[in-house]
Amino acid sequence: MTVELICVGTELLLGNIVNTNAAYLAEKCAGLGLSCYYQTVVGDNEKRLEEVLRAAVKRSDIVILSGGLGPTEDDLTKEVASRVMGRELVEDAGSRKCIETFFASRNSVPTENNWKQALIPKGGIVLPNPNGTAPGVIIGEKSTHVVLLPGPPHELKPMFENHVAPYLAKLEPGIISSQTVKVCGIGESKVETLLKDLIDGQDNPTLATYAKPGEVHIRVTARGGSEKETRRLIKPVVKEIKSRMGNNIYTTEEDVTLERAVVELLVANKLTVTCAESCTGGLLSARLINVPGVSDVYKSGYVTYSNKAKRKLLGVKKSTLSKYGAVSAQTAEEMARGLNFVSKGDVAVSITGIAGPDGGTEEKPVGLVYIACSVKGDVTVKEYHFSGNRQTIREATVSAALTLMRSCILEYFSEITFGKK
Ligand code: ATP
Repeated sequence: MTVELICVGTELLLGNIVNTNAAYLAEKCAGLGLSCYYQTVVGDNEKRLEEVLRAAVKRSDIVILSGGLGPTEDDLTKEVASRVMGRELVEDAGSRKCIETFFASRNSVPTENNWKQALIPKGGIVLPNPNGTAPGVIIGEKSTHVVLLPGPPHELKPMFENHVAPYLAKLEPGIISSQTVKVCGIGESKVETLLKDLIDGQDNPTLATYAKPGEVHIRVTARGGSEKETRRLIKPVVKEIKSRMGNNIYTTEEDVTLERAVVELLVANKLTVTCAESCTGGLLSARLINVPGVSDVYKSGYVTYSNKAKRKLLGVKKSTLSKYGAVSAQTAEEMARGLNFVSKGDVAVSITGIAGPDGGTEEKPVGLVYIACSVKGDVTVKEYHFSGNRQTIREATVSAALTLMRSCILEYFSEITFGKK
C-alpha cells in the first residue's frame, strides 16, 4: 500500500521549524512496509490545503496529515479533510469530556474556540490525545484512509505509536524487520562497490547504505509473515556482508555506537585508555565518556591546544615543533609517547590537526589531521585529509580516532595470537 504525508503549517514553509514529523512518520511507515512516494508541506491556507489533499487521496491509499488541529482560526485541517471526504463535522462527546478534564487538571477553563477541537468528521475514529487537547482522527474508507494528527511532536508520536501504527499494520498484513551492519574505516562508495551485486540484485531482503560521520551503516530489511521468517531471510545476507567487510564491521547491534564498541573492546581486553587532544578539544574524551561503564578503562584526558601545553604536559620536544610544526606526524607521535609516559595508560591516543577556517597553508591545508595511537608502547601514526567546516572536521577526526584505536587494538592482539609478539 502507498502512504503520503502532508505536513501543515506556515512556520514549516518559512523554515521557522524543522519538519521532524515528516522524518518520524516516513521512517515509521517504511518500518510498516508502506511505500511513501510523496510528502508535501503546505501552509495554513484552506484552498491550497484542499488542493493538496484532493490530489493525495486520488493517488495514495493512506494519507497522513500533521498539524492544523488546534483551536484557532488558522487551524483548518479537520474542516478541509471533512469536506474532501464528504463528511460533516459533528461534536464528539468523549472528546468534549477530554477537553474539560484536560483544562480542569491544569486549574484552567477552556476558551470558546477550544470546543472546536471536539468536532470530528462523522464516522471518524477518534484518537485520544493525553498530551494535548486536539484529538486525532482516522477517516477510513474502502480504498482511502485519511489520518489527522496534531502538530506537536510530543502529541503526534505517542498517538502514532498507540493508535495509528496498529491500524495501519492491519491494513498491510505481514511484518518488516531490519538489521543494521555498522562499518568503520571504509567509505560509502567502497562499501557500495563491495556490495554492488547484492544491492543490484536485491528484492527481499533489500539493502541500503547510509553514510554517517566516519562510518557507514548497511541496513538489511526483509518483509515476511512473521518475525521468524524475516530473521531467516536476513541472516544469510548479513553473513555474506560480514564475509566481505571483515574487521571493518564493528557491530550488527542496533544500539551499539562506535565509541561503545571501542569501550567494549578496551574492557574485554582489560586495557586502560588516555587521550591528548589538540584540535578536537576534548571531543574524543567526551564521546568515550558518553558510554556507561567507561570508568573501568578511561584514565585521563588532556586538551593540549598550545605548543607550550604539548611541551609541558606531554614532553613534545621544542625542536620537533619548530622543525615539523605542531600539525605533523612527528608531533602526533611524540604526543602519544609522552602521554603514554605521563599517564601510564595501555592505549594512548593523540590528535593534532587544522580544523579551520583559518590556519591552513598550501603545504598544510585546513582538514589535515594526524592521529597517533599507542597500544602498550607500539605507536601507529596516520595522516588524514578531512573536508567541511570546523565542526564537521572535528567530528570526522574523532570518528577516525575511534576507528584507529579499534584497528590498533585488534592488530596488537592478532599479532600476539599469531606469535609475532
Ligand atoms: P496545537 O493544538 O498545538 O495548535 P496543531 O495540531 O494545530 O496543534 P500546529 O499549530 O500546526 O499543530 O503546530 C503546533 C506546533 O507543533 C508548532 O508550533 C511546532 O512547534 C510543532 N509542529 C507542527 N508541525 C510540525 C512538524 N511537521 N514537525 C515538527 N514540529 C511541528
